[in-house]
Amino acid sequence: MYLADFHIHSNFSDGKLSIPALVDYFGKREFGAIAITDHFCEDTSLIGKASTYLGVTLNRATFPIYCELLKTEKARAWEQYGMMLIPGVEITKNSISNHRSAHFLVLGELEGIDPNKDITETSDQVRAKGGLVIAAHPVSTQKLEKQTYHLWDRREGLRNKVDAWEVASGPYLFDEVGRSGLPVIANSDFHQERNMTSWKTVLRCERRQDAIFEAIKKQKLEFFFYREVKRRESYHPQRTYYGGVELAHQRMGNLVSV
Ligand SMILES: [Zn+2]
Ligand SMILES: [Zn+2]
Repeated sequence: MYLADFHIHSNFSDGKLSIPALVDYFGKREFGAIAITDHFCEDTSLIGKASTYLGVTLNRATFPIYCELLKTEKARAWEQYGMMLIPGVEITKNSISNHRSAHFLVLGELEGIDPNKDITETSDQVRAKGGLVIAAHPVSTQKLEKQTYHLWDRREGLRNKVDAWEVASGPYLFDEVGRSGLPVIANSDFHQERNMTSWKTVLRCERRQDAIFEAIKKQKLEFFFYREVKRRESYHPQRTYYGGVELAHQRMGNLVSV
């Protein structure tokens, strides 16, 4: 049984830590699997162009360097920590309208990724090669920030294109996603160390990419609230039920012993 987090940003986009620093950060906390998923903004839209200019997203020049570094760090993560590092990106389509904005994670298969393609085309391409597509923070994140409702608005039509929908992003649980009956997953959307206190996914499968993807598709997952604390805290387990998905909410010390 091990902790996993499939939505993490590095300084290749708007995260604070480098990819090697992230591997050490999660490796030292005994995570069994993580995915690094930097923003890759659509570069046809005005907002996307501005993001590229500001350097807060991957672009066509940095993307191959990013993929290469993920490959070498994947080997090191495994050797040093026994942690599976899954290569990923967060395809980022931002519009002035929240209802036309969409973020989705592509996990495992990055070859030929084009941020200008829509989710349907990307999903067919990625899943044909064994990759996974996850809808990121599909409903209100309850924070004052850009919201991305486009995928949620189209959820019925996307049933066969999305492998899982984030039921939690950071410390927030999304009730309507939990009750929807759609396949779900919990991630931190980690940008910096203070984002570590958040919902995480717990897996019981082998630490192999195909086994992990199978567990996500078959929804053999549990969710834990991971609390990063400096000092030792008392332990108050409590369980919550969301639309048939059991969410185990635990406040624990620095290392969640699962
Ligand atoms: Zn996002
Ligand atoms: Zn993100």
